[in-house]
Amino acid sequence: MRRRLIEKLKREGILKSPSVIRAMLRVPREEFVPASYRRYAYNDSPLPTFSGQTISAPHMVAIMCELLDLKVGHKVLEIGTGSGYHAAVCAEIVAPEDEDKKLWGHVYTVERIPELVEFARNNLKRTGYDDRVTVILGDGSLGYKEASPYDRILVTAAAPKMPKPLIDQLAINGKIVIPIGGSFYQELVVGVKLSEDKFKTFTAGGCVFVPLIGRYGWRV
Ligand code: SAM
Repeated sequence: MRRRLIEKLKREGILKSPSVIRAMLRVPREEFVPASYRRYAYNDSPLPTFSGQTISAPHMVAIMCELLDLKVGHKVLEIGTGSGYHAAVCAEIVAPEDEDKKLWGHVYTVERIPELVEFARNNLKRTGYDDRVTVILGDGSLGYKEASPYDRILVTAAAPKMPKPLIDQLAINGKIVIPIGGSFYQELVVGVKLSEDKFKTFTAGGCVFVPLIGRYGWRV
């Protein structure tokens, strides 16, 4: 079922890069969805996790990974860990299982809901990604300064505008992908930090994400 889904995403022109295809073929999505949704793990749709949150649809994971242009060795920050699935896919690209560990990158991922932090940590441990992914409990709209700067940042919750701390924590030539807009519809925005004071953005299509709730997101 996993292979069939990847073939569909390739046919649709969404999945292109060998590294993203390889990662999505390796990471078992069924291990990242709640047990009652396991049989739907290879439907190309978001699924509920806990506390009214979701695991993103596979096509959105693919689109964001393709836009990020992840490379082996990259240090990545994800905001919105949820199930841990997207973090595991990023980890499989920046720190592939069969690559020399000295060349491995790392994924830091921040989640604001404690129940999801525990869910993600368990999923990542069971699937063997806990050595390449660090899950942090907190308000990800502030980023995670401790491990900055990052080569790539992905935000998997919808922000009203670009959170400034995330741009500050991006390395020069670093890239961010983030949904920005209202509560019901957003644009996927890609930003590249060209220098300390030059930041260029472009949009890469519409999307629908749950809200980014926090100091530089939506207020509860
Ligand atoms: N990437 C996830 C996955 O692979 O399962 C899906 C993420 S889900 C669409 C969005 C997540 O962002 C939710 O789990 C939500 O609790 C989290 N979130 C919202 N605001 C946040 C914030 N300020 N900091 C960290 N996480 C946040």
